[in-house]
Amino acid sequence: LARMFAAGPDMSKLKVTKTTTPREKLPAEELVFGANFADHMLEIDWTAAEGWKDPVIRPYGPFDIDPSASCYHYGGVCFEGLKAYIDDDGCARLFRPDMNMARFSRSSTRLGLPDFDQDAVLEGIKELVRLDKDWIPRKPGYSLYLRPTAIATQESLGVGAPSASKLFVITSPVGPYYKSGFAPVRLLADEHHVRAWPGGIGYTKAGGNYAPTVVPQKKANDAGYAQVMWLFGETGQVTEVGTMNMFVLWHNTAGELELVTPPLDDGTILPGVTRDSILHLVRSRGDVKVSEAPFTIYQMIDAIADGRMVEAFGAGTACIVSPIEGFNFKGVDYDIPLSADASKRAGDLTHELAEELMGIQYGRIEGPPGWSV
Ligand code: PMP
Repeated sequence: LARMFAAGPDMSKLKVTKTTTPREKLPAEELVFGANFADHMLEIDWTAAEGWKDPVIRPYGPFDIDPSASCYHYGGVCFEGLKAYIDDDGCARLFRPDMNMARFSRSSTRLGLPDFDQDAVLEGIKELVRLDKDWIPRKPGYSLYLRPTAIATQESLGVGAPSASKLFVITSPVGPYYKSGFAPVRLLADEHHVRAWPGGIGYTKAGGNYAPTVVPQKKANDAGYAQVMWLFGETGQVTEVGTMNMFVLWHNTAGELELVTPPLDDGTILPGVTRDSILHLVRSRGDVKVSEAPFTIYQMIDAIADGRMVEAFGAGTACIVSPIEGFNFKGVDYDIPLSADASKRAGDLTHELAEELMGIQYGRIEGPPGWSV
């Protein structure tokens, strides 16, 4: 049923109501991730009976949603995360937003939320960014974080495919993840909690994938570790780190220098835009073997013991790359090397990838066609 309406929304019907009471912009130094919001939001309602309604951009503000709406009860919620950057010419740029729209569509349809015309929703997002362009901080490393979200709004406690939903986009000015150079992290490899499993929805950005992670994350923090390394199964397969994709650079047992990240085929891994971009960039360099292949925590421990581990990092929109300097597994701490150049505070490849991706995002480096729009 939902697919019948994938033709909408109709962006030619977009109605824009500008704010008459602009919100206060904080000085860039005072920005806290996700705590302040720009003046406007995009909002598009859908019903099974009528399909997508006309989209609106209106002043940022609360919704009036019935307490019976299924998003409040059964987790009919999914979201996206991408950023708008200002380049040296003062133009706003998005990074591979088509990938976010495709993932948003996959997440929505997996939850029975309606599919949508990805180009149309992206056009609405671009219109929102144009309108609130002054909210993108003009400082290196700063950006406007964009949060597209879809929620099931039908007024019924019955568990069933949503007959009404709302797609909205809010935006939040954010500072650089690393204010003064990289800060490599130590992870707690979690033996007890599982983030995602084959047959589950780990490949989506369903809200329900995130609520169960906050307690394990807090336990890791309380034990002195920055993030959880998520494992799966008896063999201790490494899956993701916090809300990032996991990458390891090692000399494999065949002696090859190999960058490896878990594959997307069993549905447990979130297909990160940063992950895909890193795979593409490193494959095009040609000096490192690049593999999307399963690997285990025990293989990581062996590589460390044999001196074959080169570096490891997490990858995601928020931080681009997050260097990993070690992890704890079953009460034992293991160290992962960083660059011999101690000032980098990251592995050499990690450091290079951050520079290259940021260069493309801010329009200073010409990336592959269609990446920076
Ligand atoms: N894994 C998970 C679980 C995530 O939530 C995210 C953030 N979207 C990522 C990986 C990284 O994805 P991306 O590079 O698209 O931000």
